[in-house]
Amino acid sequence: MKKYFSKTVEESLKNFDVTLKGLTSEKANEILDSVGENTLNEKKKKSILSVFLEQFKDLLVIILIAAAIISAMTGNIESTFVILAVITMNAILGTVQYVKAEQSLASLKALSAPNAKVIRNGVKIEIPSKTVVPGDILILEAGDLVVADGRILENFSLKVNESSLTGESESVDKFSDVIDKDEVALGDQKNMVFSSSLVTYGRATVLVTNTGMNTELGKIATLMEETQEKSTPLQISLDEFSKKLAFGIIGICVIVFGLSMYRGIDLLDSLMFAVALAVAAIPEALSSIVTIVLAIGTQSMAKENAIIKKLKAVEGLGCVSVICSDKTGTLTQNKMTVKKIFVDNKLIDSTKIDFKNSDSNFLLTSSVLCNDSTSKDGAEIGDPTEVALVNLGHKYSLNEIECRNNYPRLKEIPFDSDRKLMSTLHEINGKYIMVTKGALDVLLDRVTSIKTSAGVTNFTNNDKININNVNRELSSQGLRVLAFAYRELNENKELTLDDEYDYTFLGLISMIDPPREESKAAVSDCIKASIKPIMITGDHKITASAIAKEIGILQDGDLAVEGLELDKMSDDELNSKLKHISVYARVSPEHKIRIVKAWQNKGKIVAMTGDGVNDAPALKQADIGIAMGITGTEVSKDAASMILTDDNFATIVKSVTNGRNIYANIKNSIKFLLSGNTSGILAVLYSSIFALPVPFAAVHLLFINLLTDSLPAIAIGMEKSKKDVLKDKPRDAKESILTKDFIIDIFSQGLLIGIFTMISYHIGLATGSHGLAMTMAFSTLCLARLFHGFNCRGKKSIFALGVFNNKFSWIAFISGVVLVNAVLLIPALQGLFEITPLTSNELMLVHLFAFIPTLIIQTVKVVRDFIEENNEKNRNRDANDSTMRAA
Ligand code: ATP
Repeated sequence: MKKYFSKTVEESLKNFDVTLKGLTSEKANEILDSVGENTLNEKKKKSILSVFLEQFKDLLVIILIAAAIISAMTGNIESTFVILAVITMNAILGTVQYVKAEQSLASLKALSAPNAKVIRNGVKIEIPSKTVVPGDILILEAGDLVVADGRILENFSLKVNESSLTGESESVDKFSDVIDKDEVALGDQKNMVFSSSLVTYGRATVLVTNTGMNTELGKIATLMEETQEKSTPLQISLDEFSKKLAFGIIGICVIVFGLSMYRGIDLLDSLMFAVALAVAAIPEALSSIVTIVLAIGTQSMAKENAIIKKLKAVEGLGCVSVICSDKTGTLTQNKMTVKKIFVDNKLIDSTKIDFKNSDSNFLLTSSVLCNDSTSKDGAEIGDPTEVALVNLGHKYSLNEIECRNNYPRLKEIPFDSDRKLMSTLHEINGKYIMVTKGALDVLLDRVTSIKTSAGVTNFTNNDKININNVNRELSSQGLRVLAFAYRELNENKELTLDDEYDYTFLGLISMIDPPREESKAAVSDCIKASIKPIMITGDHKITASAIAKEIGILQDGDLAVEGLELDKMSDDELNSKLKHISVYARVSPEHKIRIVKAWQNKGKIVAMTGDGVNDAPALKQADIGIAMGITGTEVSKDAASMILTDDNFATIVKSVTNGRNIYANIKNSIKFLLSGNTSGILAVLYSSIFALPVPFAAVHLLFINLLTDSLPAIAIGMEKSKKDVLKDKPRDAKESILTKDFIIDIFSQGLLIGIFTMISYHIGLATGSHGLAMTMAFSTLCLARLFHGFNCRGKKSIFALGVFNNKFSWIAFISGVVLVNAVLLIPALQGLFEITPLTSNELMLVHLFAFIPTLIIQTVKVVRDFIEENNEKNRNRDANDSTMRAA
């Protein structure tokens, strides 16, 4: 059978019984049902049962189960049963947490899955790439990811990067002609495209021949790596820390075990106690808490228009100190309206154009011919710059469709943001006219004549000065200026870049793209948060500077630099000016990489936006690559670690705020876990060192672990985002989470809870009952850790944070307190949990002792908040005073 590259376009279409109008939806669904989704096989997900069983893999848990079983054999059935029940509950909670985290990661992945443009029922639509089927007519444009294998039907200068398949890093030119051979290497199948390639230039219509595992990629891909992400840097460092801590805790447990044996306590009891202590004290939940808090955080970020593709980006967001943003569409609205045109040496308001004037007529006609967009009944399709031109035409009854039918496009060189030009060839009144539009500074040097009412005359230096002056005047009002020129060719020939010279200048069209309303506030938030906002744009320096000034990016003393100037700067010069440059204009994607690297060399964490096909390397180079959901190419989305579904700069700043908050939440959860564990260990160490009877039974430790390691820790991780974090400086990415202050907090708060636990214990011991002492110590520690959940909600006091602002922390607290009291008060549970019944006074006392550490911690926080607030007021007053004096 002939391979597709050796078949003609007609043969290929016939093979799938399809025309250029595409499949019908019904037919496509039928094919989808029979061939399956266009995805590669992934490693099978772990079943819930295997996740559950994995929870028992831990050596300590195995030892504990073994000890419990031996203990049952020696008669202590009840406590064995409870220990096994608590361990099982722990395993269930662990499983639920794992599954929840997996689900949120999967839903995030689905949000950022690529789309493809196909023709179905004769209409061009965008569909999820997994629903593309063999026989579909695929439309490829620069910036698209090729999502299936296919035979090229129509080719318009298509260039494709196939490096993921062939290893060849240069883009290859494609064509639609037949290759009359039996066997051709993949790289030479120039009339085919293959899944996973990137369209770097031009466009094409393609017949999909293979999807999913039947594609060339599917054939070479062994099972895809598991979709679950590798650990984030924070998780890796926490895992390392947990391992070290585990060694320390096991050391303590061995000592406790030795001391118990030395004091003649039964071997099995000593072993069970020591192991229970290890299980309760080793913070095995740290890494999973990080995943859960990150996953919860990313879900709420998705609701706020920021889709996180890589979990580690959330951590990175908290450290961002430079945000490099595109202008058009991100800082501005990307809603362009033509304001003024310059033609026949006159600057004319867009509402006062004389369409009968042949020069104006030619300029407007050219502007809809050299244009891929349409606008009908308010539905605007295409690039907003071009839509603005179409809308201008409508004002003068110039219909773009009719005009394009009258003067069909014969050839074209598409726009690309490196070249900043677009050219199309038309037959107009029997002549072959190439119309070009683009950036004035690029076009002007290629102009040799000018068309005015005086006819076509030589382009003089005076003309050049005059046009440049007009351009400066328009740009300084923040207007985007497009220049138009044309050239007569002798024949209908393939256009090349060499044709884009020797032009006749036609005119200028300038348009306004107002800043987004929220940009100004977002820029000021950035500056408050010690983050430098930088505008990087392909637009003109004067236009960019005017907009940057308006929204506050370009301030007094700041610099605006053009791509050409940047080229001339040495690395040293760039380094010395870097901090002051706030606007980069007329840049190409390569400049973006240089800017990112320069900031990174200064140790800064850089977020960078990008939308074009050539932006991918810069997005990858940046610490946080941000793609545009609406206007961005699939290639840029693929390279980014975050996608903005509203293309809005303010969303980046919101994401940084969220990133900082999520990190703070993780830190607070960890503080809660570690300080609580510290209190338990200190209590046990104290009793061991002073040769006192053990303060807890093994089952007590496991119960505390069950109650406090999951819900309250997660509730802290769900603390709402606060704008307050913008007052702080960005976090140093290299800084360990375990800073000195953090460790001091953990230890001092753990000690405080430990002290009150021991006071309770001694009161119980004073009655002469070891059972009562254990019950009092256990209940005090358990309740104190539940109260402590409120202390760990944030740096500030609970009143400043809002007492009822985190409903999850109340749910965790109340359900915990109810459970502890159930164990203390219900006779059936008392027996199971080795509880000695408490009198009502004793019950009150344990609640009081459990509350006192929180009372002390909150009092300290209230005082600290008060002092800080006063200091800030003073600082603000001083700042105001000095501004007044300066004024
Ligand atoms: P950003 O601020 O996001 O970098 P930009 O739209 O300003 O985006 P480009 O799209 O790269 O940057 O455009 C660069 C220049 O190319 C514009 O200033 C304009 O002069 C010209 N240009 C833009 N769109 C077109 C187009 N469709 N056809 C021809 N020239 C264009």
